[in-house]
Amino acid sequence: MMARRLLLVLQDQLLRDSNLLRGADAESDVVVMAELGAEHRRLPFHKRRIALILAAMRHFREDVRDSGLEVDYQHIDDDDRPQDLRSWLQHTIEKHEASEVRVLQPGDHRQQTAIEEACSEAAISLKTLKDGHFISSLDYFREWASGRKRLTLEYFYRQLRRDHDVLLHDDEPVGGDWNYDDQNRESFSSDGPGLLPAQPQFPIDTITEEVLATVEEHFPDHPGALDDFDLPVTPSQASETLTDFIANRLPSFGTYQDAMWMDEPFLYHSRLSASLNLHLLDPMDSVRSAENAYRNNAAPLNAVEGFIRQILGWREFVRGIYFYAGEEYGEHNALDAREDLPEFFWTAETEMICIRQTVSQIQQHAYAHHIQRLMVTGLFSLLYGADPAQFDDWHMAMYLDAWPWVSAPNTIGMSQYADGGLVATKPYIASGKYMNRMSNYCQHCPYDPDKATGDDACPFTTMYWDFLMRHEEELSDNRRMNFQLANLRRKDAQKQNAIRSQAETVRDRARRNSL
Ligand code: FAD
Ligand code: SF4
Repeated sequence: MMARRLLLVLQDQLLRDSNLLRGADAESDVVVMAELGAEHRRLPFHKRRIALILAAMRHFREDVRDSGLEVDYQHIDDDDRPQDLRSWLQHTIEKHEASEVRVLQPGDHRQQTAIEEACSEAAISLKTLKDGHFISSLDYFREWASGRKRLTLEYFYRQLRRDHDVLLHDDEPVGGDWNYDDQNRESFSSDGPGLLPAQPQFPIDTITEEVLATVEEHFPDHPGALDDFDLPVTPSQASETLTDFIANRLPSFGTYQDAMWMDEPFLYHSRLSASLNLHLLDPMDSVRSAENAYRNNAAPLNAVEGFIRQILGWREFVRGIYFYAGEEYGEHNALDAREDLPEFFWTAETEMICIRQTVSQIQQHAYAHHIQRLMVTGLFSLLYGADPAQFDDWHMAMYLDAWPWVSAPNTIGMSQYADGGLVATKPYIASGKYMNRMSNYCQHCPYDPDKATGDDACPFTTMYWDFLMRHEEELSDNRRMNFQLANLRRKDAQKQNAIRSQAETVRDRARRNSL
């Protein structure tokens, strides 16, 4: 048999026109892909997430076959074949008597190690190619980061805008400012958001139908629901989602970016992250579509700049951080947080309406928008002192869009401050009053967001003050914490002791799952 070159397509790299497939030789190359049981059982992954990945992979396989390339594809129910990446790759190398493996830069250190080990054991060469889906390369980030005392998103973002000529006029930011975040913090009036634009829906074809049945059969005990599955699973469907967002939601995206409302999981958010992270959608297309909307007077600058900053700025920045910070990043625990993540993160069974709403929505859609992740579930975990690695595992398991390169910097860094301030300049903390300002959750909750002590005290408010007391010393070096610490110091010793004791009760009740 002729020695083959294996083009390994990982499950989140479903890019049709990639450095890997461009110029592939139909005679000597074989594209290899696998649905690996061990990968999908490493954590209790949400059924919807598994279904989305498998459906997108199978549609990708068909496209590649149609282009004339051979695809060796392993299904999740091929039980007699290896189920973990390293063993499967070794087996596949032997099967094809491969001379070389090529892969796009994996977005997961663990997978990278498994691939390297399989190739080194088989004594064949491994070529890791640049993943051209991203706007900036890893070298670009490293060069930008080298020699800087602080890695601040804002400066990275400005450099990318200049280098790619995004929202510029005569080399300066359009409108005169780089950032319009101060216009992007509105909440809804008591009438709520009113009628929201309908969500795009995609009918289920036979490929996806088979996937849904397979997931129900093979992962019956995994969390989440598959009913009403309507997610984009191909590049053209992802592109339709983008078009729909630009036309119908982008104009209000900025203003209500941080707002939350009962029973409204999506509001004006784009829901593009899962498609982007599977590489079904090109990030620069999303950026240019938003920019065009501004230039055609179809969306205001605060919305367009805000959206572009998320994709061109944050998304590229966190990927750079993941590789820059190295393999141990996920183990950081700067605040020495050791509590187990409470059971209600999985069940939604809690009296706290903000958590109940957010977790129920995640159970249904495997989705929550940014401010729910940061200021509801993330905030609870941080104030409570949950182990950041457990929070990251929960996040990886429950969200459609979670992959290590993007989840870890957001959970360990931005949300839990476990990296000691590499991603965030200060811990994102607030009391229940923030939730009350930005949502109507508190109006439906038995707890009172204004109270830190007493039977109906809001657990967030109690734990907010307790957090400041527990970490006062390490936070007092941070200028940006001065205001919050000054407010703490205005509370007398008696009040502080009462909060400490109430926080102990909250933790005790959370441990017993009776909060
Ligand atoms: P929109 O609100 O419409 O934003 C537009 C796009 O900007 C998103 O689709 C996304 O691609 C990008 N984006 C915005 N913020 C970020 C960010 N901080 N990092 C990276 N990209 C960003 N995003 C993920 O894609 N995967 C994750 O695993 C993930 N984990 C997160 C964990 C926590 C604790 C927090 C606070 C944020 C996390 N984010 C993650 C970022 C962000 O919350 C999601 O990208 C966003 O909520 C996805 O919904 P959307 O597509 O409707 O986003
Ligand atoms: Fe959440 Fe506290 Fe508001 Fe209840 S009162 S919804 S627990 S912030």
